[in-house]
Amino acid sequence: MPTGGGKSICFQLPAIYLPGTAIVVSPLIALMKDQVEALIANGIPAAALNSLMPEEERHRIRQLCIQGKVKLLYISPEGIMSELHWLLQRIDISLIAIDEAHCISHWGHDFRPEYTQLSVLKENFPKVPLIALTATADKITRTDIVEQLKLVDPKIFISSFDRPNLSLTIRRGLNKKEKTAAIVHFIHAHHRQSGIIYCMSRSNTEKLAEELAEYSIRTIAYHAGLPPEKREKAQEDFINDRVQVVCATVAFGMGIDKSNVRWVIHYNMPGSIENYYQEIGRAGRDGMKSDTLLFYSVGDLIILRRFAEDSGQKDVNLQKLNRMRRYCEADICRRRILLSYFGEETETDCGNCDVCKNPPQRFDGSILVQKALSGIFRTGQFVNMSTLIDILRGSERAELTEKGYNKLKTFGVGKDLSYKEWKEYLYQMLQLGYIEIDYASAGRLKVTQLGRKILFGEQTAMMTVYKETKDFALPTKKGGFKYRPIRPIQSASVEETLLDSLQQLRKQISEREHIPAYIIFSDDALDDMVEKKPTTLDAFSEIRGVGQLKLDKYGKVFVALIRFVLRLPKES
Ligand code: ZN
Repeated sequence: MPTGGGKSICFQLPAIYLPGTAIVVSPLIALMKDQVEALIANGIPAAALNSLMPEEERHRIRQLCIQGKVKLLYISPEGIMSELHWLLQRIDISLIAIDEAHCISHWGHDFRPEYTQLSVLKENFPKVPLIALTATADKITRTDIVEQLKLVDPKIFISSFDRPNLSLTIRRGLNKKEKTAAIVHFIHAHHRQSGIIYCMSRSNTEKLAEELAEYSIRTIAYHAGLPPEKREKAQEDFINDRVQVVCATVAFGMGIDKSNVRWVIHYNMPGSIENYYQEIGRAGRDGMKSDTLLFYSVGDLIILRRFAEDSGQKDVNLQKLNRMRRYCEADICRRRILLSYFGEETETDCGNCDVCKNPPQRFDGSILVQKALSGIFRTGQFVNMSTLIDILRGSERAELTEKGYNKLKTFGVGKDLSYKEWKEYLYQMLQLGYIEIDYASAGRLKVTQLGRKILFGEQTAMMTVYKETKDFALPTKKGGFKYRPIRPIQSASVEETLLDSLQQLRKQISEREHIPAYIIFSDDALDDMVEKKPTTLDAFSEIRGVGQLKLDKYGKVFVALIRFVLRLPKES
């Protein structure tokens, strides 16, 4: 079941209704903490046992469990091994849930050796229902999970991988400066919404975070090279909305159960579709509309190929990289490609990817392609993409004159197109298989057999019209956008003012109670409040996500705020 698909509810709900205590095995302390907090906030007695807790705290929780006062006990796989013969024998176990079960498999992308010992659970508690859950399960991993947990003829449920609330967009061929500009514009368009930017290298995360900070974007960097306390703080700041953006390596994410991440950007291309899918999956867990954007470049491809070649699993990783590349280059509905990668077929285009939103317009680009291919041939297939473009556009760069490229017949034949247009069309030629990149020699371009056919007029080249976007210029830093002070914005619409006020109240409560804002009320709940504008406690109880506990705790202050914004007198 995909991230955000409702895996937790599959064991939490039975745990509440069945007598006894449910044991939940979870790999990450941060993840446990988050789930336990969310359960307690909803009035459900839950607890976690982990090795970082002081012994007296652990003792207290063991006692509560034995007294039957805990409905859900979260515990690490190591914890299972150490509690197996004492605590677990003394509890009336209602069910056992194994979360992130792909960690059990060598084939999964997140293998954890501690998980392989979990077969003891079925051996020791053969009659207790056991459920294993994961968001990343290709076939081989699924089989492995079943075998390792010693499950006999289990029922297997596979739900659709589709996350229709995530928009999918890919942009290619942008240089560093253009990427930064595009990101600043993107964040500007997602005012106050939390997001993650994944970068390939640690230094990139820090540089980008610094750059964004210059545009008054509250940003923090996160990578595995930071000291643990810094990482912890970055994570907490992000979860509690003290920063809007985190620039991170792939080290960031697994422990983050933040439901209102509204967007994910890939600053670089990921190495496989599994990674990509898992990372974009961190957006929109609450099911609300969220955006994803990936920047793709030949430079990334060259680096990723090198990683794959040195990885010790060269063939598999190169194959995965190729699938990822094909996804990036596709000009058919991207969601269809994603879903088919995970073995799902769909009948219709999604309407929520860049290809669906801007269907490609084709034209006969044979002459354009011939110019480029002949340019490559005349240099002896010795130039990379940017030099080729300079030759085609007749650049006066000294290097070109030194090498005599200015005397080539193709020098300047492509002046009518901008640098950016050429770049885009060369990417298309790569994708169509007219040219290829020589990875071993700094990205030099080679003409393929198919390319020769176009060059000699034996075949026509259908290309896609390139439409330029306008977000390449950076906004000025001074007077850039700053987040607003904590008071209701006075805007034209009551709804906007109301939403803003509700968010601020939620944030204040979150800071006071030290719990993440989305645990108090989800974005969806706030939207429902804006729509229904409840001005009494009764009406407030009808809002999505408001149970008795939250009604008692927060109802009055939220209703008072809504009345205030609507300029109604205080309730007597
Ligand atoms: Zn689509």
